[in-house]
Amino acid sequence: MIRPFKSEPLVDFSKRENIEKMQVALAKVDKEKGQSYPAVIGGRQYMTEEKIKSVNPSNKNEAICYAASSTYEIADKAFEAAWSAFKSWKVKSYRERAYLLLKTAAIIRREKFYFSSLLVEEVGKTYGEADAETAECIDFLEYYARQAINLEKKGMEVSYTEDEINDTEYIPLGVGIAIAPWNFSLAIFAGMTAAGIVCGNTMIMKPASTAVMVGAKLFDAFQRAGVPDGVVNFLPGKGGSLGNYIVSHPKARFINFTGSREVGLHINKLAAEVKEGQKWIKRVSMELGGKNAIIVDKNCDYDNAARTIVASAFGYQGQKCSACSRAIIVKDVYETITDLVLKYASEITVGAARTPGIGMGPVIDLNAYNKISSYIAIGKDEGNLILGDMPEESEGYFIKPVIFRDVDRNAKIAKEEIFGPVLALIKADSFEDALDIANDTDYGLTGSAFSNDRENLEKARKEFHVGNLYLNRKCTGALVGIQPFGGFNLSGTDSKAGGADYLLLFTQAKSMTEKL
Ligand code: NAP
Repeated sequence: MIRPFKSEPLVDFSKRENIEKMQVALAKVDKEKGQSYPAVIGGRQYMTEEKIKSVNPSNKNEAICYAASSTYEIADKAFEAAWSAFKSWKVKSYRERAYLLLKTAAIIRREKFYFSSLLVEEVGKTYGEADAETAECIDFLEYYARQAINLEKKGMEVSYTEDEINDTEYIPLGVGIAIAPWNFSLAIFAGMTAAGIVCGNTMIMKPASTAVMVGAKLFDAFQRAGVPDGVVNFLPGKGGSLGNYIVSHPKARFINFTGSREVGLHINKLAAEVKEGQKWIKRVSMELGGKNAIIVDKNCDYDNAARTIVASAFGYQGQKCSACSRAIIVKDVYETITDLVLKYASEITVGAARTPGIGMGPVIDLNAYNKISSYIAIGKDEGNLILGDMPEESEGYFIKPVIFRDVDRNAKIAKEEIFGPVLALIKADSFEDALDIANDTDYGLTGSAFSNDRENLEKARKEFHVGNLYLNRKCTGALVGIQPFGGFNLSGTDSKAGGADYLLLFTQAKSMTEKL
């Protein structure tokens, strides 16, 4: 019997011994830097002459690794291998497949500090943020294993007459593609892949190019757990070219994408076109960006609200899809909350992610650095800068916390996803007005409201149109199996990863009736 699902506990980095374990793991990662990772298709390795280079965002002169820049021929081989493996994989029981997820979780748990160290070095997470992601990765594997076992038992068994048997079985779809973002290159990638394979599908894993070593090590964990060759295939390559090719491929049955709105909508369009030889409508699940708000009512715990805004806005440098980028504050408490937010944000230290106790690491790469810088420049015309400024050239892509006050509800920095440590403070006339402002974007991912007024909390429950709503707490940090995650509007298809219904997205229900 498997024990009931329990969230993976977080490592306590206030203990010296845990810092030391992290430093041992970082030294191991250091030794592995500069290696090359091939595509792995049906168990065979393919290296290409042209390679993807992944760089340490805390030290832009350091290469983390190189990886194959997979060609269309390699991609074709991936579809062949995955369809071939599908024949025997689809007939395995849910239980048998689920146990391989549990084994993968056990491997990652045993090597927790190593996986967290990879995240520190390749994507610039602080120790705490990296550990939370490794824990989330383990949670996805553990949770979907249990959900899969339940799915095997699910199905309608009502008979219309006595001499009739009715069954509904949830069978797999075929070959799927998981396309991952760099910001949760371990947890989300693991969840998107695991959900596919545990239902009997076979998968092509396309990692983000800026987090390709994390992707390679995750793939390696699936292999070490005993997931058969061809059931998971590792296909690194350039999003713009290889990505387009695989999502348009007639042999792709479904696409599980997490990333930006721009790329997501592009994929949705490509996937909708039926190619010659294609026998199905591709199923597309996508989780995209956000412009998340925390509302502060006149009647609440001000200190807690301000600390929470700061944690939600600047945790992982504001590079979480759930990050708070707008604090919408009722006018009566605008000055009080602004002062407190400024106070707590000013205390954040910024530096190399591997520095123990550092508050914020770097942003992911030059593109992000330039994009965020351009929004800071826009913000200077749109609001009053009260913290931070344009970043200065340094060894890494470091941007200190930036706060603009008196931002108009229709300003660009109040409407567009910046995906960096930039916070807009917006004044609202009332709680109702704050809700209107919060909802007035194309997105609908996360949101939070601070209030001690029961009626206002109920209003937020009814009217705050986001996939993940939080009351009197931060708007980041959804837990697997506890806060199923997915956005409304242009934030995605609301797939609710880590929720009870998620696996159904990767199955088709087959209804069967036998007359006796
Ligand atoms: P991105 O630029 O859209 O890239 C995501 C993935 O798509 C990468 O693997 C990328 O490959 C690939 N890609 C790029 N162009 C493609 C194309 N034409 N066809 C197929 N694949 C393509 O997003 P990102 O910068 O990695 O991630 C940040 C975004 O993700 C933010 O908007 C954030 O809000 C969102 N996000 C949402 C959630 C959620 O659950 N809602 C979670 C995490 C992140 P390359 O790396 O090779 O370009």
